[in-house]
Amino acid sequence: MKNTLLFALLFASASIAHAEIAYKVQPQPDTKQLAITVTIPTNAAETLVQAPRWMPGFYMLQNYGARLKDFSATGEGDKPVELTMVDDHTWKINSMGAKQVTLRYSAPLEFQNGVGHYSGIAAYIYVVGRTQERCKLTLDTPKEWKVAVGLDGSGPDYNADSYDTLADNPVTLGSYYEETYQTAGKQHVIALRGTGADQIDKKLLRETCETVSKIETEFMGGAPYGKYVWHFSVRSGGAGGSGLEHLSSTEISLGSGFSRRTAGLLAHEFFHLWNVKRIRSQSLGPFDYTQLPTTGALWWLEGTTDYFAITLLGRFGWTSEQDLYADIAGNVRRQRRSEARLTVSPHDSSSRVGEANNGRGNSSGFGLSYYDEGFVVGLCLDLELLAQTNGKRSLDDVELALWKKCRNNQPGFAEDEIRKQLIVAGGDTFGPLYDKLVLTPGELPVEKALAHVGLELTEKSEIRSVTMPTEEQLRLRKLWLAKKR
Ligand SMILES: [Zn+2]
Repeated sequence: MKNTLLFALLFASASIAHAEIAYKVQPQPDTKQLAITVTIPTNAAETLVQAPRWMPGFYMLQNYGARLKDFSATGEGDKPVELTMVDDHTWKINSMGAKQVTLRYSAPLEFQNGVGHYSGIAAYIYVVGRTQERCKLTLDTPKEWKVAVGLDGSGPDYNADSYDTLADNPVTLGSYYEETYQTAGKQHVIALRGTGADQIDKKLLRETCETVSKIETEFMGGAPYGKYVWHFSVRSGGAGGSGLEHLSSTEISLGSGFSRRTAGLLAHEFFHLWNVKRIRSQSLGPFDYTQLPTTGALWWLEGTTDYFAITLLGRFGWTSEQDLYADIAGNVRRQRRSEARLTVSPHDSSSRVGEANNGRGNSSGFGLSYYDEGFVVGLCLDLELLAQTNGKRSLDDVELALWKKCRNNQPGFAEDEIRKQLIVAGGDTFGPLYDKLVLTPGELPVEKALAHVGLELTEKSEIRSVTMPTEEQLRLRKLWLAKKR
């Protein structure tokens, strides 16, 4: 009896471990839709499925559920089962005793000139309470189509350890332009689409992608992903762009006039492989897709990410020293243009972002930009650490300590962790300094920080060397601009 029971228990747990939620996706270019079939093993009488209400990395409520249509559900033997809409992002399936239910629906597909693209969050529903179960993705595409996706697998089947991973991997498919390169032992794919894809300087774009990957994986000590995909949408004309980070890829929209200076955008999105995606606040994974997450650390995760992205390009020689100063000065100018810096702290700009835009969030900050604030806070803390420790410690040590704490899928960091690591790196005075710079509104001490390395802000808010820098200032400046400190 005992053995049989033990065997039955083992068998039951093994069968649960092997169960996975299977997503089959068939692109339909004519109607610009994806036909999606989700097969869900179940023991429950009812299964609730939901469309996410926000996308990780973009802190603004969205109505993805309203864009999904043509829902139907079946049980075993393809027998229809009851399906009801609960609210604008939730559906209930009555499995009527079936051990497996299959849900079918359509989601929007971007499709132009033979190339399709979609983001996982806008396409895939999740099973309520089961987002941490394994998922399988099957892409049912014509044989001649190429596919770029950051998931494990070589197609048509791909694997994800959870819904979070599945949904955080956008897909480009069809006849897009593709290049690949190897960095840090990992494959990197460049997938180009859009009206400007034929006009952009592909050699420069590839060189930039490759350099950014090399710099940042060298700085952080390796590539924490299986493969990486740059999903570029290129429009005709212009040099600017915007991007959204993902677990092992990014979606970047670019003007075809892309130049060396646009590298900052690519470096920012790539640095998110660490900050946000793996070095993250506890509320940033596993995700609650029904409400915006709350963390006071977006100034670090976005703004200081930008500080590292921009300064590493300078430290590794991609940007000249003068261009680096111009980039830093540009951030300081933007940050000082906002009057709200005197009434809202970087912490509150982060933690209260969900209050912006009538409670829907805005993905840039409550009252002021956590990008600009976080960049300048990062600059001040970095130079203060270098100065107070006689060049022995810097913000690099804080970033690498956070990485050690979060790497290999450890839980996210607590809200006071950055403060703690600053004290470890720089000593007790960094506690009150953090409180002043991060928790309290007010002017950030940029002039004082720059003076440590013999630099000053001019009246036009440009950065230049002071007339007679001391040897100590020059020594710290050299360290500040060095690859390794
Ligand atoms: Zn970002």
